[in-house]
Amino acid sequence: MPRAFITGITGQDGQHLAEFLHTQGYDIYGMVKGQNNPRMTVVREEFPYVEPVPGDLADLPSLVKALEQTQPDEVYNLGAISFVALSFNQAELTANITGLGVLRMLEAVRMVGGATNNPIRFYQASSSEMFGKVRETPQTERTPFHPRSPYGCAKVFGHDIVVNYRESYDLFACSGILFNHEGPRRGLEFVTRKVTNAVARIKLGLQQELVLGNLDSKRDWGYAGDYVKAMWLMLQQDQPDDYVVATGETHSIEELVTLAFAEAGIDDWQRYVRQDPKFFRPAEVDLLIGDPSKAREKLGWKPEVDFPSLVKMMVEHDLRIESAKIR
Ligand code: GDP
Repeated sequence: MPRAFITGITGQDGQHLAEFLHTQGYDIYGMVKGQNNPRMTVVREEFPYVEPVPGDLADLPSLVKALEQTQPDEVYNLGAISFVALSFNQAELTANITGLGVLRMLEAVRMVGGATNNPIRFYQASSSEMFGKVRETPQTERTPFHPRSPYGCAKVFGHDIVVNYRESYDLFACSGILFNHEGPRRGLEFVTRKVTNAVARIKLGLQQELVLGNLDSKRDWGYAGDYVKAMWLMLQQDQPDDYVVATGETHSIEELVTLAFAEAGIDDWQRYVRQDPKFFRPAEVDLLIGDPSKAREKLGWKPEVDFPSLVKMMVEHDLRIESAKIR
């Protein structure tokens, strides 16, 4: 059986990827940091086939040990400080984990290597936040980067060091430049899930208002379950390369809010939504829209879930879990 090692196993993408690789017959190892990490309980309950392995992206020896122990064919580096707003307050931590963590993982891959006829294949979770103050629209694999947050800067370092290690040491290392991808497993701090969860709670009378920041920015939102398949496809190619993974459509936060409230049968969303400067960012990414042509042509990948279906899926999920709480 092929073996996959995943960092960020307790996050949204780690969970979707584990689920997908399980259907492909993989043995799956998930790196878990810290003592008694409470998020691991969810993974243990929902994904009993994932074997937890201790390790931390801040600690190179722990990464080497984890790879020696698990001898993976594929390494997926999804672990990061992933919330843009937090990265402004914890910039150094973000640089260390989201940026330098990639370098450490690449070093561990180089050191452990894998069998000579079957070297470890490496996937890096790059991000559309690297485009930031966008230089062209839509954004492709060749669009220059102009990050707008410590998170974006750290991701640019991670992306560039993957290219450098590929070119310097002939590693099979790929980066997926993933645009925003969401779903019912998205953390409540991200705007999509914050909105769908609040809509559900307002509908059920559990919450009176939804407080947001900038409603004008635009994102290319896809479904996380679709996007993890693109990660895997990249590692099945003959040559390592980088790919934009996106839907090619963009929508504003206001459109998201309108659609989510409408999905719950509420048409006058303005009654419930208030803006607060504390949710605005020191520098904003105004518009993201990706061109996924290369992924479509070379990987045969395309998104299956469109924006209205994504919002509907998330609102329905949140209505289900929130109403279960009051029963
Ligand atoms: P990001 O694209 O990785 O930063 O994903 P987010 O879901 O955190 O934010 C997407 C966009 O929503 C950004 O332009 C935010 O400024 C905007 N936004 C507006 N109000 C909020 C809010 O209350 N929370 C978050 N997370 N984002 C908000």
